Amino acid sequence: AQVDTLDIIVLVVLLIGSIAYFTKGTYWGVPKDPYANSALNGSAAKKGSRNIVEKLEETGKNCVIFYGSQTGTAEDYASRLAKEGHARFGLSTMTADLEDYDFENLDTFPDDKIAFFVMATYGEGEPTDNAVEFWEFINNDPPSFSEASEEKPLSKLKYVAFGLGNNTYEHYNLMVRNLDKILTNLGAERIGTAGEGDDGAGTMEEDFLAWKEPMWTALAEKMGLEEREAVYEPVFNVEEKEDLTVEDDTVYLGEPNKNHLEGTQKGPYNAHNPFIAPIAESREVFTVKDRNCLHVEIDISGSGMSYTTGDHIAVWPTNAGMEVDRFLKTFGLESKRHTVISLKGIDPTAKVPFPTPTTYDAAVRYHIEICAPVSRQFMATLAAFAPNEAAKKEATRLGSDADYFKDKISSQMLNIAQAVSAVYSEPWSAVPFSCLVEGLNKLQPRYYSISSSSLVQPQKISVTAVVESLRIPGAGHVVKGVTTNYLLALKQKQNGEPNPSPHGLTYSITGPRNKYDGIHVPVHVRHSNFKLPSNPSKPIIMVGPGTGVAPFRGFVQERAELAKKGEDVGHTVLFFGCRKSSEDWLYRDEWEEYKKALGDKLTIFNAFSREQAHKVYVQHHIKENGKLVNDLLQQKANFYVCGDAARMAREVNEVLGQIIAKERGIDEKKAEQVVKSMRSSGVYQEDVW
Ligand code: FAD
Repeated sequence: AQVDTLDIIVLVVLLIGSIAYFTKGTYWGVPKDPYANSALNGSAAKKGSRNIVEKLEETGKNCVIFYGSQTGTAEDYASRLAKEGHARFGLSTMTADLEDYDFENLDTFPDDKIAFFVMATYGEGEPTDNAVEFWEFINNDPPSFSEASEEKPLSKLKYVAFGLGNNTYEHYNLMVRNLDKILTNLGAERIGTAGEGDDGAGTMEEDFLAWKEPMWTALAEKMGLEEREAVYEPVFNVEEKEDLTVEDDTVYLGEPNKNHLEGTQKGPYNAHNPFIAPIAESREVFTVKDRNCLHVEIDISGSGMSYTTGDHIAVWPTNAGMEVDRFLKTFGLESKRHTVISLKGIDPTAKVPFPTPTTYDAAVRYHIEICAPVSRQFMATLAAFAPNEAAKKEATRLGSDADYFKDKISSQMLNIAQAVSAVYSEPWSAVPFSCLVEGLNKLQPRYYSISSSSLVQPQKISVTAVVESLRIPGAGHVVKGVTTNYLLALKQKQNGEPNPSPHGLTYSITGPRNKYDGIHVPVHVRHSNFKLPSNPSKPIIMVGPGTGVAPFRGFVQERAELAKKGEDVGHTVLFFGCRKSSEDWLYRDEWEEYKKALGDKLTIFNAFSREQAHKVYVQHHIKENGKLVNDLLQQKANFYVCGDAARMAREVNEVLGQIIAKERGIDEKKAEQVVKSMRSSGVYQEDVW
């Protein structure tokens, strides 16, 4: 085709424009290699709203609370800090998802404003999914500045930091600890201490509450803020729409987003957009009456999603009908459960956590975590809306007295509706719906280690999930896990069992507008680093008691398939454990099949803890077979642990150190170092929860 003069002029203008665009970006005043971090260069080209300094300016805010959140707790703490900062100290606050902003202009963060970082540490000292880019940037991209230079790049930045971690993991609160170091080194000034909450000790909420008071005092002093009497101000304007009914096809009845509402679900499927997947098959794998473990096969064909062995699948739950009813009744919403409502942020930076217009029923059933542990601070907030003086007094006491709260609420494991009803049993109708949306978490998808091999069944994902059911001694009630009981109901329905509503929980199994009919479940896949060695002839050692065996079923399935195909497969050793061979021996018959394919390449050690006078766990069998374990490690075996993070994973780590010390004749300190370096080089991998 001919190119005329006008075309050439247009092309030249475009070229100059692009060069100008892509070269104008200098990060923190230092010219950068444009190829150094393609992810950030990509995001730098995104629209202006990713610029936090500009956003603060535009919206008149002087305080931003960034969060790195995986399960919603850090996000919840961020919005609580935002509300409190505004209500008590008149700060003009906003919360910000770390993944929604770029950080190359953090050096221009105004010194009369403040940034909070509420950072959860995930897995083995990793950032949460939404903090990955920020973490890469802050670790790799800050320019090295000369010690001699007077101004460090972040010398204007004042920040507050709180971390959410779990002391049973080796890299306890690594995110906040490292972030604090990096920011300080770059010249930023921290206000208050860098707080640390410990989920492992079960003290997260109390750690947070204890940290924030002195932090507020320090911040008020630094910024010259005056404390005022906090008055509740709603974040959302909740409007009841008389012109709309549940019949209108613009009303969300639990659909996660617009495509789902319009009945045309579209990929890519991810943490913001689930795939409504058919359940191909579901069955019980325990052989005991009072406990359940489910094997569920989820069909992902046609979704465009893929997985590799060792990945995770997230299941998006629905709250149980019984709990939805209890909640609506407790807050006086029962009679108008199907009233259509719309929610709008009163402040433009406030994000409505679910799509609207919707109904009270749908919001509570599909989007709000109504069964989780209650926050003491939230109880204090609710006191203002108590139905009478006595209830107000009691709620205030619960909100301010940690021991009393523990005794009455936490130790009984009450959910919010149970807790509020325990204070006063008549409806608390004065609580604004906005207050409930603000104070409770978004309903979170739960993750499961995929228990199938992608080589064997690329389009079908297996889940092995133990159904959570905990009887509270003395409390007279049973705490039922949200997702696993939902899966149990789906399994019962699929198998035509007489009463598909375990324990009267009555799930809306067919989903919004019956879109989940025919046994579907909303899911997405999360890729993990928990992987088989790429060379199948390498030996592997797997430690997976209980449902910790889930990914190892996938690993063994894969190696059996490779062996059938004539590949040279290395020694494959599994340490499994459960209570009794007659009750909870997962996949008992299947192992025989894999054995046929793998022959003496597969060795399984089973620890049945309750079949003899003393308890026997996987750790004992690992120790007894120390020589084999050490020999395989010396033949470059990978070592995998999956399951309970609190005790098992830690003890296995210790036992491995002891084995290495004994078998290699080195002292225990040195052996610990060997184990540490196995972890850092990826030889020792954990998938624990
Ligand atoms: P939830 O409703 O989340 O409750 C969980 C627990 O919280 C309850 O048992 C109880 O102890 C406590 N709790 C609930 N409500 C209250 C309350 N009001 N007050 C106090 N305490 C309360 N699980 C598996 O079975 N198989 C797997 O393969 C598997 N893989 C995983 C992989 C990863 C990476 C992660 C992070 C987790 C994995 N899990 C796995 C755990 C799984 O994600 C869920 O946590 C588990 O199934 C429970 O979910 P649930 O919704 O049924 O229970």
